[in-house]
Amino acid sequence: MSAGAPVLPGSAVGVVGGGQLGRMFAAAARRLGYRVAVWSDVRDAPALAAADLPLCAAYDDRAALADFTASVAVATVEFENLPTALLAAIEARVPLRPSAAAVAATQQRVREKGALADLGIPLAPWRALGPAPDRAAAAAGLTAACGEVGRPAVLKTAGFGYDGKGQVALPAEGPWPEAALALVAGGPSVVEAFVDLAAELSVVVARGVDGEVRAFPVAENLHVRHVLDLSVMPARVAGATAARAAALARRVVVGLEVVGLACVELFLTRDGDLWVNEVAPRPHNSGHVTIEACRVDQFEQQLRAVCGLPLGDPALVRPGAMANLLGDLWHAGEPDWAAALAVPGVRLHLYGKGEARPGRKMGHLTAVGDDADEAAATVLRARAAAARIHGAGGGTPA
Ligand code: AMP
Repeated sequence: MSAGAPVLPGSAVGVVGGGQLGRMFAAAARRLGYRVAVWSDVRDAPALAAADLPLCAAYDDRAALADFTASVAVATVEFENLPTALLAAIEARVPLRPSAAAVAATQQRVREKGALADLGIPLAPWRALGPAPDRAAAAAGLTAACGEVGRPAVLKTAGFGYDGKGQVALPAEGPWPEAALALVAGGPSVVEAFVDLAAELSVVVARGVDGEVRAFPVAENLHVRHVLDLSVMPARVAGATAARAAALARRVVVGLEVVGLACVELFLTRDGDLWVNEVAPRPHNSGHVTIEACRVDQFEQQLRAVCGLPLGDPALVRPGAMANLLGDLWHAGEPDWAAALAVPGVRLHLYGKGEARPGRKMGHLTAVGDDADEAAATVLRARAAAARIHGAGGGTPA
């Protein structure tokens, strides 16, 4: 692989997507002296406010494409569900890292699982289902797929699903839920064996232009209603398990030829197997804690990888934990930030989103500690204080 000349501070880097990941990337890039162009199709997107060159336009806007690509030396993404035509058009004009092909491989579950299976990466048993013309065909498809992967199982839409959206549980017995029949009729989908989880893990891993790969410590993730609630780093698993997870993550980014940053999410089964769940070709919610816990954080590492600079050292400095702040926390008005910040060592990150809708990721809290348990207890205490839940240990308030 040719390394080429690095894109140096003072240059402009482009980010496609306007969410909090782009906002935190922009903050890191500006700290290093870059100018940042952000292209989002959503007005008031959090990353636009953090950009030197904000661009709010539809993703098929040809004039916007010309402006964006003329203004940057290199581009990256903060969100994978972007039109492939857009990514290809950007790539035809400026280096896009990760490439359009690498992003496309992770955009759609059937494609993603197929690519990972081709690389020999272990996955939970799965079967692809084509869109069914009617209810009977949908039911027959589910019966055939579950005949292979077993029941209970989880049905997932193939495209544009995240945070458990577009998923239906398929029970161990009984008729297929109406929602499952509708989902199968609606488009391509995947049936996946229900995994008896010991833990959910993730590894944020960078791969440079020169092919160098560096993985952050393995994170352990706890979800509430399919949405990440709490991440701790390092994961509270055996060292050998963490090493296997890191090795799988490295294989994934090398195999998919990612240049930039990716997060590999894994299931650890009660039998000790590690199965890759999905791959995000960008920074990840479970990597936010790297800002406080590691020698370089995931956003600076993304920048370094994308700009062809030497990768930073992702080693852990102190164990850390991150608790998400969902819109639900605003149910009784603005949370009590002063109370949260009164907890020693806690740091608050808010994304500048206007409306606090239930389930919407509005920000996060982090803490470091002598070990992951202590960091987790501290960050949960701070979140409970923000929610004015006196004496509670944490958990996302309903
Ligand atoms: P996903 O959007 O596929 O990452 O799923 C969101 C969350 O749903 C995961 O992080 C798990 O907590 C849960 N989940 C997804 N697939 C399965 C499965 N096959 N077995 C058990 N839990 C699952």
